Amino acid sequence: MLTTPEKIVFALLALITLYAAYLTAKRIIAVISRGHGKPDWSQVPKRLLEVTGQTLVLTPVWRARPIASLLHAFVAWGFFFYILVNIGDLLEGYIADFSFMGTGRLGDYYRLFADLFSVSVLVGMAGLMVRRFILKDPSLKTRDSTLLHPKAAQGKARDSLIVGIFVLTHVGFRLLGESFHLAMEGGDRWQPFANAVSGAWLGGSEPVLTFGAHFSWWIALGVIMAFIPYLAYTKHIHLLMAPINFLLTPRYNSPGELEALDFEDESIEQFGATRLEDLSWYQIMDAYACIMCNRCQDACPAYNTGKVLSPAALEINKRYFINQEMKALASGEESSQTLLEFAISEEAVMACTACGACTDICPVGNDPMRDIMDIRRSMVLMENNFPEQWQNAFRGMERTTNPWGVPSAERMNWAEGFDVPTIEQNPEPDVLWWVGCAPATDNRAQKTAQAFAQILARAGVNYAVLGKNEQCTGDSARRAGNEYLFYELALANVEILNEVAPKRIVTTCPHCLHTLKNEYQAFGGDYQVIHHSELIEELMKDGSLKLSAEQTASVTFHDPCYLGRQNNIIEEPRDILQSSGAQLVEMALSGEKSFCCGAGGAQMWKEEEHGETGVNLSRFKQAAETGADTLAVGCPFCMVMLTDAGKAQGSEMQVKDIAEIVVEGLD
Ligand code: SF4
Ligand code: SF4
Repeated sequence: MLTTPEKIVFALLALITLYAAYLTAKRIIAVISRGHGKPDWSQVPKRLLEVTGQTLVLTPVWRARPIASLLHAFVAWGFFFYILVNIGDLLEGYIADFSFMGTGRLGDYYRLFADLFSVSVLVGMAGLMVRRFILKDPSLKTRDSTLLHPKAAQGKARDSLIVGIFVLTHVGFRLLGESFHLAMEGGDRWQPFANAVSGAWLGGSEPVLTFGAHFSWWIALGVIMAFIPYLAYTKHIHLLMAPINFLLTPRYNSPGELEALDFEDESIEQFGATRLEDLSWYQIMDAYACIMCNRCQDACPAYNTGKVLSPAALEINKRYFINQEMKALASGEESSQTLLEFAISEEAVMACTACGACTDICPVGNDPMRDIMDIRRSMVLMENNFPEQWQNAFRGMERTTNPWGVPSAERMNWAEGFDVPTIEQNPEPDVLWWVGCAPATDNRAQKTAQAFAQILARAGVNYAVLGKNEQCTGDSARRAGNEYLFYELALANVEILNEVAPKRIVTTCPHCLHTLKNEYQAFGGDYQVIHHSELIEELMKDGSLKLSAEQTASVTFHDPCYLGRQNNIIEEPRDILQSSGAQLVEMALSGEKSFCCGAGGAQMWKEEEHGETGVNLSRFKQAAETGADTLAVGCPFCMVMLTDAGKAQGSEMQVKDIAEIVVEGLD
């Protein structure tokens, strides 16, 4: 119980602290509000239960780094309970003879959990500090060649140290305070740890023990008062920002769906993001939700192959830049530097394969890939600044409607010798096969199209193709930042498709699948789109397609990013491989955690940025390490990249599309 002057001092301290925190929060909200768009609050009731459960269980955290995740959970769960503990301690300090939760069974359980969670926080935080400061876990570092805000390198370590010291002091002194009380009161079996510590004070005089309890109360609650105004500047604010991120950030048809730009509105002068304030509000908020854990960096294929791109550095740089310019940004001034000057280098922007691994793994729901795509848009649309080689692909898409530059008249050449009906020949198909530019024009990928044509014929599927009227979906243009070209292709394709009104669309290309299924909705095209693995599985299940199942080769399946991670089609390719008799062996990085082949994000059309190795070489090596005879793919881009990698490494492992493997197994 505090004395009256102490109560007044603490109340004043709390008022000052809360006012300082209010001013900082006001500024942060003002900075976040500089981004375009507005939060959709109507989402909150719908998501509240899900986000509460996810926050309590820490669902996104467990997907990687099990030991660090466990230590983090010890701290997080303890802190959830400490909301109660701090309220209880405050009330007990102010109200004479008050016992929070009472002296009955409820009070017993409360004291037990307070005691257990105190220890869990201390163990968890001590473990995390040992990992960072003694073991110096290399995954917490970023390579020197990556652009990092001058204050971030030391600031990251300093923030972690301050947060660590705060947590250990707050909880440590709370436990100590309880031990002094127990030394005076004669022990409490419901507080085993505080009881054990109290043994150290046995024989202590009452004034000394009272002073100890009193002092501990002040330190335990006093550090909160000191820490609250600082909280907003540290990664600890993710405690608030992460749940807000999950509650309010828009959800897309697929995480990789990009937002359409409005080219009809002539008042819009900025396309893409040149400066921080050109990002959306939730992209700015990402900087505050970021816990600087580098999990996204760990998952990034560009970073893993020695490129200068680190999605974590991008978020961290945004945070430090905002902290540095907070007052000016909050008052509406233009940010003093462009994103390319402080957040991410041009080279890093161009190294992104748009694989979405960073967004997928982030435990606080951040989306660094979206920032990179927006910066590319600004580079391409506002500054005409992009690699020379992309010009060829853009020209191909503009003039011949495919990035290979193959004339439309030759688009059906692959089907010579196969009986492939066009929509004119079969105007009422059950399935419209969207062949895609690569299977239609690339020599190697054509074999996939030919294999799939055989499967459809064998199963007696009533299908048709658009033939010469099919154009590129524009996926590469969109991910290269050329949103205007994508917009033109999307409008043209949607017009054709709406005229055909397909019951279902099937495609062998996950990029076509993703675009047709998830991104054309914004342009008036709402279609049921499936991958060829899904159709083949369906045909196998309904008995239309029978396999001899005599194949015995061991096969490892490479999940294309836009099939597995972006569209959650993971089991179907495996099911049909196994049904065709293949012995399936998995790579360490598979399913949603698959490693990119290196072609996505329009990388297919340009040289890779400088690094230690190629993304495709790295992925092929992972596949070769399984010892499989065959590397199965389900994407024409993956086919090209991994076939090239196999040749470069002189490997005997064959690269085949799942359709080719199925054809080999046909009766
Ligand atoms: S999308 Fe892929 S390549 Fe791009 S930053 Fe994220 S993880 Fe790296
Ligand atoms: S963006 Fe997410 S995954 Fe990356 S460092 Fe920040 S919190 Fe970690």
